[in-house]
Amino acid sequence: MTGVVVDTHAHATTFLPRLAATAYHSVLRGRPPDVTLAEVASTSVDALVVKAVGDPIVTRWHLRSPFDAVRSQLAAVRDEVTSSGARLVRASSEIRAAAADGVLAVMLGVEGADCIGTDLGLLERLASDGVRVVVPVHLGDNQIGTTALPWQKYVGPLPVRRQAVGLTEFGAEFVRAANRLGVLMDGSHADEPTLMGMIEHSTAPVICSHAGARAVSPFDRYLSDDAIRAVAGTGGVIGLWPYYMRGEGTPTLDAVAAHARHIADLVGPEHLCLGTDMNGVPGLAEGYRSERDVPLIAHHLRAAGFTDDEIDGIMGENVLRVLSYNTSKRGGTRRAGTPAERADRRQTWCPGAPGTNGTRPAVGRRRRHAA
Ligand SMILES: [Zn+2]
Repeated sequence: MTGVVVDTHAHATTFLPRLAATAYHSVLRGRPPDVTLAEVASTSVDALVVKAVGDPIVTRWHLRSPFDAVRSQLAAVRDEVTSSGARLVRASSEIRAAAADGVLAVMLGVEGADCIGTDLGLLERLASDGVRVVVPVHLGDNQIGTTALPWQKYVGPLPVRRQAVGLTEFGAEFVRAANRLGVLMDGSHADEPTLMGMIEHSTAPVICSHAGARAVSPFDRYLSDDAIRAVAGTGGVIGLWPYYMRGEGTPTLDAVAAHARHIADLVGPEHLCLGTDMNGVPGLAEGYRSERDVPLIAHHLRAAGFTDDEIDGIMGENVLRVLSYNTSKRGGTRRAGTPAERADRRQTWCPGAPGTNGTRPAVGRRRRHAA
């Protein structure tokens, strides 16, 4: 790995209040240990998108309004950034600058936009607080759309009341507002009709920061080939996710590489990124323990036939391309357009894509490490 390494999906240890975290940890024995930003600073990872959790499953534990619960989580991330000597960033150029300076960059995100209700002014406040990536739908159906897998289904055969599937009318407004604000939409956790709705209405790239391919493994959280093509068609990226729990996800890093291979063969390696879900998952692929094992993922990608350039793309350069498009163009300056216009737009978003002769920007990197 010689490019900037970006983990597009991570959480801070503080997203749950201490009491709730203790309860959660005691239920899920054997879960991966907490990872602090100070620990990440000593690894090969240059930047993290750290997401506060805005769904009611988490925000109700904070004993304040859902929006205030998210703001207090974001404040805790800022505090940890300061105390660990990391740097808060709002743009891909700032990630590159931090990497060149040898400082861990942290970009803020939110997973579960339930916390804004139907008040787009609150999305604007999050954006002005520095939030650059939002997962609109998390572990339950909400005002924006429907989830691929409600939390009850992770737990066991519990009854779930569902709403009509797909992006809601408010969801379409949300997408337009996010485009306008330069907030990158992360369709992880959304079901396919909702994800397709986001893509249809978005004039900026849509990503899925932590996902996989259903063709490789039939997990509801993974994407069909149609969905993978649709995300790639926006210029977006799909994150390799080393999640494994009770027979679902990726049992090994070879399995992670198999998802990468399938997605790359379908839409090209320039549509892959990394989303480890640090501090957010109850179980991980065998051999992967924390950010310090990110080079092992690169190693398995190499074994799966990816070139060094492709691996640099997957490890960070691809998502930096998306982030720079998103913050420089503010997405919403274009209309959704015809299929031909969308294909054309993809060439703009993906200068390295087949059929174009764009060049990869020079990279500043934080530190060298052995894969
Ligand atoms: Zn998630």
